[in-house]
Amino acid sequence: MAPRVRFAPSPTGYFHVGSARTSLFNWLFARQTGGTFVLRIEDTDAERGRPEWLDGIISAMAWLGLDPDEGPFHQSEAEPRHRAIADALYGAGYLYACECTREEIDARTHENATPGYDGFCRDRAVTRTTQTALRFKVPASGETVVDDVIRGQVVFPHDSMDDFVAVKSTGHPLFALANAIDDRDMGITHVIRGEDLLPTTPKQLLMWAALDEVDAPVELPLFAHLPMLVNEQRKKLSKRRDPVAVESYRDQGFLPDAFVNYLSLLGWSPNGDSEIVDRATIVDQFRLDEVHHAPAFFDVAKLTHLNGEYIRKLSSSEFLECARPWVDPAKAQWTPEGTEPPWPAEHFDEAVFAEMAPLIQERVAVLGEIPAMVDFLFLPEPPFDEAAFTKVIANDERAEGILLKAIEVYGSCEFDAEALHVATAALGEALGHKLRIAQAPIRVAVTGKSVGPPLFESLAVLGRDEVLRRLEGALRRAER
Ligand code: GLU
Repeated sequence: MAPRVRFAPSPTGYFHVGSARTSLFNWLFARQTGGTFVLRIEDTDAERGRPEWLDGIISAMAWLGLDPDEGPFHQSEAEPRHRAIADALYGAGYLYACECTREEIDARTHENATPGYDGFCRDRAVTRTTQTALRFKVPASGETVVDDVIRGQVVFPHDSMDDFVAVKSTGHPLFALANAIDDRDMGITHVIRGEDLLPTTPKQLLMWAALDEVDAPVELPLFAHLPMLVNEQRKKLSKRRDPVAVESYRDQGFLPDAFVNYLSLLGWSPNGDSEIVDRATIVDQFRLDEVHHAPAFFDVAKLTHLNGEYIRKLSSSEFLECARPWVDPAKAQWTPEGTEPPWPAEHFDEAVFAEMAPLIQERVAVLGEIPAMVDFLFLPEPPFDEAAFTKVIANDERAEGILLKAIEVYGSCEFDAEALHVATAALGEALGHKLRIAQAPIRVAVTGKSVGPPLFESLAVLGRDEVLRRLEGALRRAER
């Protein structure tokens, strides 16, 4: 039977990079085995779920090209079935009613060595009412062994497991129940998910065995728990400390193919020497049983470097298209949140940008860096970096002579990059300066900054009149 896998996110927050990795590994496994990739939204926690989180999951998956073959299914829609099965489990004695409140449990157990429920109601034959939860009766002795594709056998002694809640006192079926029923009903053959869920797996195995008794028996899926993602300090990625929202990477200008390539390396390695591998190669080479179990370092610097490599591999027209949301949002298919070009929209000139684009493409690691590199082209005045202006123009006595000479020379020389280069070297030499020294005040006067795209190309694109106006403007500014 062809594999059926599912990605089963709970829409309770931003779409986390760890979830994206889980989604990707499920998708890869399905694509490479000719299996089916199901998207199931585990939306039973109505208090914590929000529609925008759900939209975030769907749009981030679409951005990454992780297209489900089936779904999205909403777990909440299967609630009547979950409730019916819960009744059957209760009737067969797998679940028992519990009337303990959280406070009562805490008061009784706060000094216990093993946390969790103490089994208070287990043998009290509490009558089931609208106030009682249903707990699963974990066998008192023995153990449950999770046979994990990635981690091997993991043993959970039953005396370390508490009688977990399967149905809340409100009547709502919980994760341990709903997740197992849905996996059965959807014919899931491989459960591929994050290591954080490994402690829930023995509960699901016990539940599965109980379900086999009250419902048609279903073969157990294989489990594969993917390694945890950690930060530089080797700590689990935290929503508060670390940049974990996939949306924020899209908005900063990471390319989906680069992001997918990077995610694939979080727990897996391609066959060859290079870690830059395209999607088809990843699909071809990926093996679930070769996924490592050591925690994977989510290295933003490495991701950024990889993204730069992907940007450089784009064709010129692809680069222009990818850059559009950052430079000309009005004409883009989508716009990155929190970023607007610093120039008035009507000042953007596509032809001017296209002329500079190949030089920009060589120099950015993420697309969000583009506006700051080309802003001087579309702003009426250069956006002055005051520190650079003071250092290189106001407080450097060589600057005035260089700028005056540049005005004179640029007034009549050819105005292409090559000619400007030669002219600038010559004017520097005439004043006794190296090219680097002569360039510095010209760059700040014209672009406002001491770093940026190559100077002579920038001057040529800006044009003679504008360059002269800016050189004069900088001289006046220095006199103030
Ligand atoms: N809904 C669960 C979560 O987001 C995942 C369930 C699963 O993959 O089994 O943590």
